[in-house]
Amino acid sequence: MMKFKDMPYERIDFAKAEEELKGLMQELREAKSGEEQFETHKKYYRLNDHVETQATICQIRHTIDTTDAFYEKEQKYYDEQMPAYSNLRVTYQKLLYESPYREKLEEKIGPVAFRNIELAMKSVSDEVIPLMQEENMLATEYEKLLAGAQIDWDGETLNLSLLTPYLTSADPAVRRKAAEKQNEYFESIGGKLDELYDKLVKNRTEQAKKLGFENYTQLGYLRMQRNCYGREEVENLRRQVKEVFVPFAEKLYERRKERLGLETMTWSDEQVFGPEGSPQPEGTPEEILAAGQKMYGELSPETREFFDFMMENELMDVFGRKTKAVGGYMTYLPDYRSPFIFANFNGTSGDVDVMTHECGHAFQGYLAAEDPIREHADIGMETAEIHSMSMEFFTEPWYHLFFGEKNTEAYTQMHLEDAVMFVPYGCMVDEFQHEVYDHPEMTPEERKQVWKRLEKEYKPHLNYGGLKFFGKGCFWQKQHHIYSYPLYYIDYVIAQLCAFEFKAWMDRDYPEAWKHYLQLCRLSASKFHTELLKEVGLKTPFADGTIREIVENLEQSVAAGRW
Ligand code: ZN
Repeated sequence: MMKFKDMPYERIDFAKAEEELKGLMQELREAKSGEEQFETHKKYYRLNDHVETQATICQIRHTIDTTDAFYEKEQKYYDEQMPAYSNLRVTYQKLLYESPYREKLEEKIGPVAFRNIELAMKSVSDEVIPLMQEENMLATEYEKLLAGAQIDWDGETLNLSLLTPYLTSADPAVRRKAAEKQNEYFESIGGKLDELYDKLVKNRTEQAKKLGFENYTQLGYLRMQRNCYGREEVENLRRQVKEVFVPFAEKLYERRKERLGLETMTWSDEQVFGPEGSPQPEGTPEEILAAGQKMYGELSPETREFFDFMMENELMDVFGRKTKAVGGYMTYLPDYRSPFIFANFNGTSGDVDVMTHECGHAFQGYLAAEDPIREHADIGMETAEIHSMSMEFFTEPWYHLFFGEKNTEAYTQMHLEDAVMFVPYGCMVDEFQHEVYDHPEMTPEERKQVWKRLEKEYKPHLNYGGLKFFGKGCFWQKQHHIYSYPLYYIDYVIAQLCAFEFKAWMDRDYPEAWKHYLQLCRLSASKFHTELLKEVGLKTPFADGTIREIVENLEQSVAAGRW
């Protein structure tokens, strides 16, 4: 075991790594049996683990301090080199795919891996490498633009992340001012945001065309590794959300308005749970972390072991600093079998979300670390987010450790309310991207009109209250995923719906729900997403009726006054 700060970093020499990979390809070709090929494949695991570990160490150290010139340079190096190396990996995988010993290999690695290889083969070629490099650079530029925000707040300079607490202030004037400041900043970079996105859409469309697709939507599905459902299922899900989920979410917005005692509720108001503001955790960021340790210590023996491991090896950099990148993420260092959690604690309930959400991801990574088949760690996002979003509910009995007597009830309600309100928004982000990539010829202005139309369908109550930039159809420009992770968003919706299923289950029988949750975590990606759900006793949200049932369960909770 090793502390993160002691993990040595050495730049990957990609020329050497590629040579090694080519050597392994030669070995595969010369192998006389499936067993022999699998032995070679284990060397491939070791090579990739090493490359990924170094690249991830670099990424973490870069985001921990975006002003560190060394890791900035290193990050740029990986952005440039990784696409070509990834493509070569696909060439390697193609040999497995076409192996005369395929059956034996499939027995060892599983059918999901082979389906994923097929998707990967269709979604890359040497011809698109320069475009992928450019895509990486454009996304990085977007992230830097947002990370570099300098917002004046009563003489203090804040970045977007440090401005967040003011957006949920109990004082309507303060949250309104914070919203205006945020809006002003985005307005000031509006031209650049339009330009970057336009370039990204054109870039992605060109990649799709070069690979023989009509548009990026199809390619995007492959790159998101959607290996067991497609556009039709996603459209069916969105249709059901519009029919049964949006009306339910609107009722909750109405409740929120009443709770806030407002005639009209504007966007800056609806960020807040009630007249007291949003429930805030008690204590310092350090105390929040300590509460997390107590919580996971009590929840189960597995979570206790996991959290101790994270603390002992200093695998959580969660305290906010001005030079850190914004947001939060969980990543994984394969050589050290170590998850890593990055966040920016700022004293709001968002910090608790990190303890419950990102730790859900990390816990799964920790649980599945012993699986020798590396492909099983290749989890689709719609599955990975079930691990994290369900953990948010499984930790509910410990919320009082963070919120004390006064705020626990409010936080529990707010958490569920926010989860419900997220679903229409998530679908909107997804439908928007389908529209954008289906019609790449649209101008930036036309894209904004699409967004405005979708806002009316998914969030009919929405009122920006005169915030100029957001009001003109630009809200999506602050959504990182739309720039950096195309078509990655419906995954959150799928997972959220599954997490609601777990929620209903734990309300009926907590130990039984937890048992199946552990099973899901341990299964990793050894099976297809739809099979995993079935195996652990969840219904797929794609099927007609599942979403209605979820809404009925949630509505019953509301009616029973449980929240
Ligand atoms: Zn997540």
